[in-house]
Amino acid sequence: MTALPGSDQAKLENRSRVERDRNVPLTGPIVMKFGGTSVADPEAIMRVVGIIKGARDSSGLPPVVIVSAMSGVTDRLLELTASAELRRDAHVLNGVAELSRRHFDAIERLLPADIANDLLVEIGAQLDDLRSLLKATAILRAASPSAHDAIVCTGELINSRIVAAALQHNGIPSAWVDARRAIVTDAAHTSALPKPDETREAVGREITPKVAEGRVPVVGGFVGATSQGVTTTLGRGGSDYSAAIIGAALDSREIQIWTDVDGMLTADPRVVGSPRVVPYLSFGEASELAYFGAKVLHPSTILPAVDKDIPVRILNSRRAGGAGTTITAAPPTENRALAAVACKRHVTMVEITSTRMLMAHGFLRRVFEVFERYRTAVDVVTTSEVSVSVTVDDAARLDDIVGALREFAEVNVEGGLAILCAVGDNLRCDPRIAARVIGALEGFPVRMVSQAASRRNVTIVLRDEDVAKGMAQLHAEFFG
Ligand code: ADP
Ligand code: ASP
Ligand code: MG
Repeated sequence: MTALPGSDQAKLENRSRVERDRNVPLTGPIVMKFGGTSVADPEAIMRVVGIIKGARDSSGLPPVVIVSAMSGVTDRLLELTASAELRRDAHVLNGVAELSRRHFDAIERLLPADIANDLLVEIGAQLDDLRSLLKATAILRAASPSAHDAIVCTGELINSRIVAAALQHNGIPSAWVDARRAIVTDAAHTSALPKPDETREAVGREITPKVAEGRVPVVGGFVGATSQGVTTTLGRGGSDYSAAIIGAALDSREIQIWTDVDGMLTADPRVVGSPRVVPYLSFGEASELAYFGAKVLHPSTILPAVDKDIPVRILNSRRAGGAGTTITAAPPTENRALAAVACKRHVTMVEITSTRMLMAHGFLRRVFEVFERYRTAVDVVTTSEVSVSVTVDDAARLDDIVGALREFAEVNVEGGLAILCAVGDNLRCDPRIAARVIGALEGFPVRMVSQAASRRNVTIVLRDEDVAKGMAQLHAEFFG
C-alpha cells in the first residue's frame, strides 16, 4: 500500500509542512463564490444580490464576488467547439444565437433599458469574439488549446458583467473586474496553474482598490491569463479554485462557496438517498473528498486556503440561513468515525508485472516515469515486489502508456471500475474504522484496497455497476 502519487493530497501534506505562513493576519475581505446553478437565471441572480446585500451589512469591507457561468453554458461552449471542429456550421451559429438569447433575456429582466443597453454593447462584443473563434476553429478543423480556453471562458466573462450590473442597479456599488488581469497563470491551457506572487500583485492592483472604495468587485471564475496576457482556464469546476486563489492573495477572513446543496454531504446526493450535511471538515478531509469525487469543491480549492489557514465555508444559495460546512485546519471532529464517503466513477485499472526481475525500486521508478511522461495522474496504487496496480480516470493516453510499459512489464488493463473512498481524520488513530469500512463492503467483488499515506482515507476499487449499492451500504453503516 502506498501514497497517492499525483494527487493533491501529496501536495497538501507537503505544503502544509513547508510553505504555510500562518502568521499573516486575515483581515482581507470575504470572498463569495456563486456556482452555475446559483446564477443560472434572473431569479437566481436576484437571490444572490440579496445574499451579497446581507454580507455587506454585517462587515466593514464589502465582499469580493466570484461568479461561474450560468449552469449548462460551459458544457454548451465545449459542445460548440467540438461541433465547429466537425464543421457543423449551422448548428454552431444556432448555438451561439441561443446563448445570446439566454443572456440577453436575463439582462432585459434584470435591468432597465438604459443600463441594459450599455451592457448589451459590451456583451455583444464578447459574443462577436466567440463567433470569430468558432469560425476560425471551423476553418482549421481544430481548436488550439489557447483557442479552446478563449472560447470556454465566455460564460464567466459575460455572467460576471451581468451580476456586477444587477448589484449596482439594486443599490450595491460594484465594479466588474476582468479576471484575466487578476489571476496570472502558467501556460498549461485547460488546466492552468496560478502563479501566487504575480497573482497577488495583480489582485492588489485590480481588486484591492475597489474594495477600499467600498465597491463589490465581481470577477468571473475559472479564467485567468499568462503573464503575456494569453487567456487560460483552470479546469472544470475551476471557479472554486479562482475563489481560493483570490482569497489567498487578499488574506481573506473567509472563502465562501455558495452552491445548490446545504454543504458537503456525507455522500454524493446523486447516488445516495438522503445524505446529511457534514458541519465541520479539516482541510485534509475536504481535499480528499474533493479529489475522490465530491464535486461540490474543485480539488485544488483547498491548497491556497491551507497556505494562509483561511476557513472555507460551503453554503446553499437557495437556503441562505443554513450553517453549511466549515472547513478549517483543526475542526472539532474527535467523535466521528468518518467525515463522509465519495466516489469517482469510470476509472481504469492497470496491473503491471515486472518481466525482467528488476529490483522493486527500479521497477517502480520506471512505471511511474511512464505515467509522468504521458501526463496522466494515478489515483490509487497497490504494490508487491514484482507487480503494481494503479487506477487512472483519464484514459486518453492509455494506449501510449500500455505500449511503453510493455517494453519491460506484462500489462493487464481493466475498465468499467469505480473508486469508493471513505474519508475521516480519525482513520489515522483508530484501525477499527478501516476494518469497519472493508467489512461494510462484504459480498462485493473488490479489485483493490488501499489506505493513503496520510491514512485519512481508505479507497476501494470495485466494478462501476456496484458503486451505487456499495456507497449506500457504506453510508448506512456509518451514517444510517
Ligand atoms: P456549482 O455549480 O455550485 O459549482 P457543482 O455542481 O459543481 O455546483 O457542485 C455541487 C454538486 O455537487 C451538488 O449538486 C451535488 O450533486 C454534487 N455532490 C457530489 N458529492 C457531493 C457531496 N459529498 N456533498 C455535496 N454535494 C456533492
Ligand atoms: N463554468 C465552469 C465549469 O462548468 C467553471 C465552474 O463553474 O466552476 O466547469
Ligand atoms: Mg462546481
